[in-house]
Amino acid sequence: MSTTLAYAAQNPQAPMAPFEIQRRAVGPDDVKIDILYCGVCHSDLHTARNEWKNTLYPSVPGHEIIGKVVAVGANVSAFKVGDVAGVGCMVDSCSHCASCAEGLEQYCENGFTGTYNGPVFGGENTHGGYSDNIVVDQKFVLRIRHADNLAAVAPLLCAGITTYSPLRQWKVGPGQKVGVVGLGGLGHMAVKIASAMGAHVVLFTTSPNKRADALRLGAAEVVVSKNAEEMAAHVNSFDFILNTVAAPHPLDPFLALLKRDATMTLVGAPESPHPSPDVFGLIFKRRRIAGSLIGGIAETQEMLDFCAEHGIVSDIEMIPIQSINQAYERMLRSDVKYRFVIDMASLK
Ligand code: NAP
Ligand code: ZN
Repeated sequence: MSTTLAYAAQNPQAPMAPFEIQRRAVGPDDVKIDILYCGVCHSDLHTARNEWKNTLYPSVPGHEIIGKVVAVGANVSAFKVGDVAGVGCMVDSCSHCASCAEGLEQYCENGFTGTYNGPVFGGENTHGGYSDNIVVDQKFVLRIRHADNLAAVAPLLCAGITTYSPLRQWKVGPGQKVGVVGLGGLGHMAVKIASAMGAHVVLFTTSPNKRADALRLGAAEVVVSKNAEEMAAHVNSFDFILNTVAAPHPLDPFLALLKRDATMTLVGAPESPHPSPDVFGLIFKRRRIAGSLIGGIAETQEMLDFCAEHGIVSDIEMIPIQSINQAYERMLRSDVKYRFVIDMASLK
């Protein structure tokens, strides 16, 4: 075991503050990573404040981790000391259920272990990337092929894969009109990735001042979702919509924009449910609502390689760990341009 500096929430009301955690000794299949950068996901905030009612305290969030390998176990050949490596939202799964066998560890039927707040299904708590280092089984360590700008690569480990996976699952590509709802951490990655896949991307926002940014990030059109007239111009026209909003909101105005048989996939995970959809809106067009959870390890590697090939990184605002509480407040005001990333050197 080694004592490691971290930032933790001690209870739902407490601000994030310095805390010491223990990391396990490096086992034969483990990779130890000194953390350089960690992205700030809205899930970190949901968890730190117990909004999903399952937080184990003390809670050290962070699942968009980029760092340098500083030690490897005897069985590890894919990583060596000095490599840049990534860790995303999971650090373990059962590895023998049907989902794990298909490389869909995020749907592990025995419950995957999250990078933080891991043992929702039992076991010891896990601590995430708001810390100096992490020890992870090699199966859950990702290879980083981006040559530089590593801080901006960190958000791919959650925001990137959470949007890439449903875009692939619903076969987004050229000739399709694809909506992205919400221009935050996930939304801005969805805009970049869906446009790189060749789709005609329409960004829906509640923040009219994000219009120019959305176009710069790759959207072909921007719709202010509170403007009924702008929304009406798109009725029955979308092949797919990816909804990334972190707060409960009416889904019907977006469902009405889907073509017959088209799908809106929800990835946002708000504290309380969305108002129920209008069933007539669904049945008269055989429209679908779906959900999607992060992505498996193989698909996360595929996404990282896709982004490296297409020159895609996140648009980030770098912060020292000491500013994390202010960053959370700005995230709640939709004032993120477009992902906070913690420079972990500030912890030392
Ligand atoms: P974020 O950076 O805070 O972005 C959320 C965006 O939603 C905001 O920037 C805002 O965009 C929009 N929004 C916020 N409040 C709204 C409201 N009341 N009505 C309409 N739009 C609103 O959050 P994030 O990190 O992208 O995460 C988004 C959600 O996905 C969170 O709930 C997070 O926990 C969840 N998540 C899920 C998965 C998964 O596997 N399914 C993985 C990671 C995260 P505009 O200003 O453009 O409107
Ligand atoms: Zn996340």
